[in-house]
Amino acid sequence: MVRIGLFIVLYGLIPAVQSYLYIIDLAFVTPASALNYILSIFSYYAVFSHLLISVKIPRMQHILPYDRMIKFHALSGILLTLSIYYHGAFKLLSGKELEGTSIMLFFLWTFLLFLAVIWIETPFSRSIRNVLLKRFVVLKRIPYDLLKGIHEYLFFAFAIITFIHINESDLLYSSYSFITVYGSGFPIAVLALVLYGRLRRFFFPRFTVMSVRNEADTLVLTLSSAGKHSLRYRSGQFGYLKVLKKGMNREEHPFSFLSHAHEKEVMLGIKSLGDFTRSIQALLPGDTVSINGGFGNFIPSADEKPKVFIGSGIGIVPLVSLVREMRHTPLKGVADVFLAVTLREELLFEEELKELEKTIENLNLHLYVYKEDGILYTSELFRQAIGNPEQAHYFICSSPGVREIVTSALTSIGASKKQIHFEAFSY
Ligand SMILES: Cc1cc2nc3c(=O)[nH]c(=O)nc-3n(C[C@H](O)[C@H](O)[C@H](O)COP(=O)(O)OP(=O)(O)OC[C@H]3O[C@@H](n4cnc5c(N)ncnc54)[C@H](O)[C@@H]3O)c2cc1C
Repeated sequence: MVRIGLFIVLYGLIPAVQSYLYIIDLAFVTPASALNYILSIFSYYAVFSHLLISVKIPRMQHILPYDRMIKFHALSGILLTLSIYYHGAFKLLSGKELEGTSIMLFFLWTFLLFLAVIWIETPFSRSIRNVLLKRFVVLKRIPYDLLKGIHEYLFFAFAIITFIHINESDLLYSSYSFITVYGSGFPIAVLALVLYGRLRRFFFPRFTVMSVRNEADTLVLTLSSAGKHSLRYRSGQFGYLKVLKKGMNREEHPFSFLSHAHEKEVMLGIKSLGDFTRSIQALLPGDTVSINGGFGNFIPSADEKPKVFIGSGIGIVPLVSLVREMRHTPLKGVADVFLAVTLREELLFEEELKELEKTIENLNLHLYVYKEDGILYTSELFRQAIGNPEQAHYFICSSPGVREIVTSALTSIGASKKQIHFEAFSY
């Protein structure tokens, strides 16, 4: 509730008051120009909120959790698209001069949109993306990290040009001085956070690779630090891994913790998908990596409500960590844990989990190995295993396809969508 309130105040109430005070100061205004001012002022704040996404400061998790910021990013992206194209159309149709910065913003935004569409698959852009990638096969070959880097730097340039443009247009000036002060102070505060985020990189906790073990398709990385490290995370969360080895990809990639916070060593379970995850295979004991974390809200509440954890494939990683953590933080309610993999080797910590089930009274494990039992998740399977489907809270981590099957199976047995929480391994 506090978070929603903060978002409403920062990106709704303040821009609304600012738009109102700006417009009432004007001698003449038409509905079309008023809409142009309103969209521009709302977009101004949205642009700087986009920059916050690259900041990645774990302490900010409580106020602005990363997953919510990503959702807000998608929503405010729609507002920005509307605003920029409306701004161009309004100026052209009303015969006003289109300034250099407006033209730059128009082209830069169009290019950023194109990059976003080919870079990440989202429900909004999936069909356009598929058409583009099919027609221009060369686009498929552009590495994810390169697209991400270009997007980040160009967006930074976009934010700076927005600041200049809004200042040129006098939109920040008002007879109410607090409007001007807040309007200029907001981007300065965001830029200070961005700078702080950049500087933090030099101080991320560093770890030495202890072992690199292959379990079928999953690579289990065990990391240790010489002294007490400053990495703080909770089971269910993820961190950004960066390899500090000459000649290796220096981009940071997100991975859920396989270990839990009570362990001295940090463990990650990594599945090879592309350039970065393949290059990890070349890590050797003694190499150095850094981790920025923990992030994410894939953490069950500590109440007595029954909890159901459902994972498949590499998506079992955060769930294994949550179950292993139960040894130290006892459960208040019943927990049903469903883990499904293709090969038995992928069932990480199988023995330990089974031992835990014997000692933790309210923990029920449901383990499936497809190559051995041929079992897949269905509504019938969940109906038989889950006592009170209407009351439970669900935590799912799997590929998007399995997630859809599981969600519809759960809703068909009485779970409401509000009770279902996800960890998506992509964004
Ligand atoms: C919150 C979260 C937790 C994750 N936990 C795990 C885990 O425990 N184990 C595991 O094996 N994988 C995990 N992943 C996925 C992992 O980050 C990607 O598989 C990996 O970054 C792929 O990089 P690549 O260069 O090998 O593949 P690429 O070919 O570059 O990418 C393959 C796909 O992976 C995704 N991806 C690539 N880079 C990133 C990135 N920097 N950020 C987000 N998504 C990316 C994209 O959807 C992309 O299409 C997690 C992802 C997220 C967002």
